[in-house]
Amino acid sequence: MTLAKAEFSNTQNANIQKWSAYIKGSANRQEILERALDWVSKGDIDGYMSAHRKHKNINELKTYFSSVIDWVSTVFTDTLPEMKGLEWGRLYEEHHGKSYDPTKMSADVKRLAADDYVKSRRGIFEYLLGGSLDTKLLEVRVFETPVKRATYARQTQAAEGKGESNCPLCAIGHDANKSRIYKFTEMDADHVSAWSKGGKSLAENCQMLCITHNRAKGNR
Ligand SMILES: [Zn+2]
Repeated sequence: MTLAKAEFSNTQNANIQKWSAYIKGSANRQEILERALDWVSKGDIDGYMSAHRKHKNINELKTYFSSVIDWVSTVFTDTLPEMKGLEWGRLYEEHHGKSYDPTKMSADVKRLAADDYVKSRRGIFEYLLGGSLDTKLLEVRVFETPVKRATYARQTQAAEGKGESNCPLCAIGHDANKSRIYKFTEMDADHVSAWSKGGKSLAENCQMLCITHNRAKGNR
């Protein structure tokens, strides 16, 4: 413990500034040490401490901590304020076996950080590490209610004129829903051009689908 404090709680340690880009808290309040222990123990600090009480060195702790920090700073070459305090230990465990192109990652971070539709900038890093699939992490801004209502009214009027369903996917199907007119509350807004492919949450990119079809299209 004395050795660990000398490493992680020593405010003279030249690395502290680098660590602080990723870790919340301060060295003299033991918060960096706590994070280091949390990472190496995968969240079981007490178990780790009792198992390692008799150890004469802190090599494992130091090595693991450096691996996490080196990995983050290699994959993400720019440091954004939103990186501070993320679960880097978990992200390291989940993703460090994959290879990333830091130049592309840097460009992707900048693009997403500048995108007004991304509500959670803290989610950008995990989103990119996971291969840009889980848009939930970004809390992408969805269609405003007036846009949904206007789209619903337009679609429903056109559908009634043609005697087909106001869900465009039901309309091209072959079951009883082919001519079903859904209520507004039975439908949800969908991006015609997927948000992840550059489609915006604007009226011209909105279509209302029945809830079943909207879910089937997945989270985009
Ligand atoms: Zn449908």
